[in-house]
Amino acid sequence: MKLEPTTTIWMDGEFVPWDDAQVHVLTPSLHYGWGVYEGIRAYATDSGPAVFRLREHLTRLHDSARVYLMDPGHTVDELTEASLELMRRTGLTHGYLRPIVYLGYGTMGVAPQLDSARVAIAAWPWGSYLGERAEEEGCRLMVSSWQRNGNHSVPPQAKATGAYVNSALTKVAAVRAGYDDALMLTPAGHVAEASAANVFVVRDGHLVTPPLSDNILPGITRDTVLTLAREAGLPVTERSITRGELYVADEAFLTGTAAEIVPVASVDDRPVAAGGCGPVTKQLRDLFHEVSRGRSPEHRDWLSYV
Ligand code: PMP
Repeated sequence: MKLEPTTTIWMDGEFVPWDDAQVHVLTPSLHYGWGVYEGIRAYATDSGPAVFRLREHLTRLHDSARVYLMDPGHTVDELTEASLELMRRTGLTHGYLRPIVYLGYGTMGVAPQLDSARVAIAAWPWGSYLGERAEEEGCRLMVSSWQRNGNHSVPPQAKATGAYVNSALTKVAAVRAGYDDALMLTPAGHVAEASAANVFVVRDGHLVTPPLSDNILPGITRDTVLTLAREAGLPVTERSITRGELYVADEAFLTGTAAEIVPVASVDDRPVAAGGCGPVTKQLRDLFHEVSRGRSPEHRDWLSYV
């Protein structure tokens, strides 16, 4: 997806012109992948642009930084205000925000100097992540031969830049094989998640999603869907899912900030029964749209108006 520049990027407390937001080629995070980041969406609402679950995303950024022993040097409140001011200055009506905490230039080595953390926040317009065909007809998934990062190697609950080599290998292999994306398994063979989205399966009206212990990123959209489903009275369980369960699901869908809620059309060329967007997926997608666009009286606190 091509990056559409805006006017300015927030870097360490200052707004700098988009083209001047540069880092040195010897920045250690580039070499060792020691950095953490977030992906956040802002939506156009009747009351102007609003950032969806901004505080939860910035809290996860702080949590990821803790795992990687970095102090972002700015509180969640300060980063919240910086994000909202960035939206105002760029004039975006909706879009995607990308805060990142990384190590500044100055030392080199596999044990980098951890007290040199720097922070930046960028925002730009971003459309559909998996494309409109996938959103309407469902995405075609394969099960990847790449296993999902695990707690014995790269902690999956932290959104670290280096950890995304795992996702990128998965996604690139899937796209080259003609699929939209892929699901990764844990070493025990449980379904973990897609390259940049969590997964839900529906069978006999029952919603199931893998637990945090199955090497997933604790997705904020996943949490949104769990909350909305419980409020709608849908039975929901967080438990391990086998590959075989994917093949016999009535419905399946992916959740993520970039992807939002995308139905799954097939897994390993086995069509998911309902085809297209099944009724439970549609119900949740409609609820998500209402809440994220400020059209529902519920969960107003999930929106930070610009
Ligand atoms: N898993 C991975 C690996 C991801 O990159 C993402 C996207 N951040 C998700 C799940 C979904 O998380 P969220 O809903 O918070 O965007």
